[in-house]
Amino acid sequence: MAAAVAAAESGARVAILDDNPAPGGQIWRLQSNRWTTRMRASGAEFLAGAAIYGTAGTHRLRVLRGGEAQELAYAKLILATGARERFLPFPGWTQPHVLGVGGLQALAKGGLPIAGKRIVVAGTGPLLLAVAAYLQSHGAIVPLVAEQASNLHLLLFGLGLGVSKLQEAGHLFWDLRRVPYRRGTWVTRALPGSVELNHGDPVACDYLACGFGLVPNLELATLLGCEIRKGAVAVDEYCQTSREDVLAAGEINGIGGEDLALVEGQLAGYVASGQKTKSARWLLERKSLLGFRRLLARSFVPRRELRYLAAPETIVCRCEDVTYAELQKASDERDAKLQSRCGMGACQGRVCGTANEFLFGWPAGTLRTPLSPVPLSALAKW
Ligand SMILES: Cc1cc2nc3c(=O)[nH]c(=O)nc-3n(C[C@H](O)[C@H](O)[C@H](O)COP(=O)(O)OP(=O)(O)OC[C@H]3O[C@@H](n4cnc5c(N)ncnc54)[C@H](O)[C@@H]3O)c2cc1C
Repeated sequence: MAAAVAAAESGARVAILDDNPAPGGQIWRLQSNRWTTRMRASGAEFLAGAAIYGTAGTHRLRVLRGGEAQELAYAKLILATGARERFLPFPGWTQPHVLGVGGLQALAKGGLPIAGKRIVVAGTGPLLLAVAAYLQSHGAIVPLVAEQASNLHLLLFGLGLGVSKLQEAGHLFWDLRRVPYRRGTWVTRALPGSVELNHGDPVACDYLACGFGLVPNLELATLLGCEIRKGAVAVDEYCQTSREDVLAAGEINGIGGEDLALVEGQLAGYVASGQKTKSARWLLERKSLLGFRRLLARSFVPRRELRYLAAPETIVCRCEDVTYAELQKASDERDAKLQSRCGMGACQGRVCGTANEFLFGWPAGTLRTPLSPVPLSALAKW
């Protein structure tokens, strides 16, 4: 939205394609705010439920909207495909009361009743605190926040924060002052009604919200041939990718949170619409926020022990029911796919591919159109 607003207010003809039914991305979803208001006033057209599933030569995208496949041409493309949660398998993680941290928050925002429910929040990263505070403020009881990062990593993270982020963290800790925040702690098994931890007694809960940080959604950028470096799209200071006419903003350039995504969005919007002079302020702001992106990347790396939580019978690819034991027999991601259908289900490896990279060190496999499941009619059309 920030990119579209900057470009449209600069006189460009802009369309936003989003596979969600409403603008707002991961954070705002259905909630209106000043960006949705600005977007509507800017003249940018919002195409809801438009999933980009492929490319068609240069400067053309394949889009599925309302069950219909379409081709869309562009002069400049700003990628802002965001991030998803990283899930790592452990015994019991596929039970219905185990959800992603952001996933549970999204469900709660969408109407899932959480008042009075006991919810353990576990995994890693600042999202744990933000979501725990959100759940608590909506009536949930949070018996524990379990953060896998060590005391040392958290101390270094705290020391590296600027004043405003420290204030944010301070507010969250104050809101959660009655909730135990255990560092160096992770869930080893989820049972119906409770979770076991690497140390201490099991904790009773109705839900477990568990996520091990975020990973950029790189599929479209990869398909377009943009250079990927250290798990993110490689961009220059103007958010220009290695592909001509393709810019990238937000989490796909590396996890950095909402503030950086908004700054990069505006920067990319001005650059794409030929208003580089207007981008000076955002260049400086981006520079000052990049430190937080680097700090996040080194502070919340999942620890080695998490590689060994899955039991032989634990399902790793939940679309195709492929177990850890089956994957141990494979030599790489492609072999696993051919032998077991791992990664060939509805999510197309977005969950298990990320887990396998961590568990077995398998780099992501090659990508081609379609990036997401489409009806046969969409394939037959071209
Ligand atoms: C579950 C979750 C919760 C989060 N909560 C917070 C939080 O509380 N605070 C915070 O600072 N950060 C949070 N983040 C990080 C958050 O992603 C960013 O701060 C912010 O939303 C980044 O904006 P973005 O534009 O990069 O991505 P997003 O806001 O994620 O927007 C990307 C959009 O692109 C769409 N999209 C992706 N691929 C395609 C495609 N092929 N075709 C069409 N549309 C596509 C997605 O559906 C999404 O609407 C959260 C992330 C996740 C995954």
